[in-house]
Amino acid sequence: MEFILASSNPHKADEFNDLFKDAPISVNPASKKIDVIEDGNTFNENAFKKAKAYYDEFKSPALADDSGLVVPSLPDILGVHSARFSPELPDYKDKNLKLIELIDGKDRAAYFVCYLCFYINPQEVYFFEGRVHGQIGNELQGEDGFGYDPVFLPDGQDGKSLAQVIEWKMTNSHRAKASIAASNFFSNR
Ligand code: IMP
Repeated sequence: MEFILASSNPHKADEFNDLFKDAPISVNPASKKIDVIEDGNTFNENAFKKAKAYYDEFKSPALADDSGLVVPSLPDILGVHSARFSPELPDYKDKNLKLIELIDGKDRAAYFVCYLCFYINPQEVYFFEGRVHGQIGNELQGEDGFGYDPVFLPDGQDGKSLAQVIEWKMTNSHRAKASIAASNFFSNR
């Protein structure tokens, strides 16, 4: 099955094709960007909005993802708003330092979550979720990865940050887990 990727990031299509290499799914970048306002209250609402907007425009099945970092002790920031945390700090290094400052004295438990929405047609829409649990560290660690990776210490990785376990991340991240769930579903459909 072919899906148009509801994203303006062309690297994501390659990433998903890699994650879906054993599944009957192929993902193509969209030929033009559709502006979608991601104002949903949940990740799956935003993923649905994006997938539907691309389906409506291209009249063919669309795949969208929405992800973020959830820190339950800081309920008013990050989460579904992760991409808009501290807009006055454009550099993720500074956003991560700010997060370390804000979490001081609070519970450091956190998780990354990813929702995938496969919008085949208005009657057939499927969602898949993946999570990776861990803690917010108290310093930035590692040079690889992106976004909040240097400040997130996944469980079971000896206190290393996601930016220090990039190989592990490829098969254990929130995106990888949601993609594995989707692969299993579409392979057995
Ligand atoms: P989006 O789903 O690509 O829009 O990502 C939403 C926000 O979550 C952005 O601020 C990303 O930097 C952050 N984010 C999503 N996935 C990851 C990840 O794997 N590592 C680090 N940050 C992430």
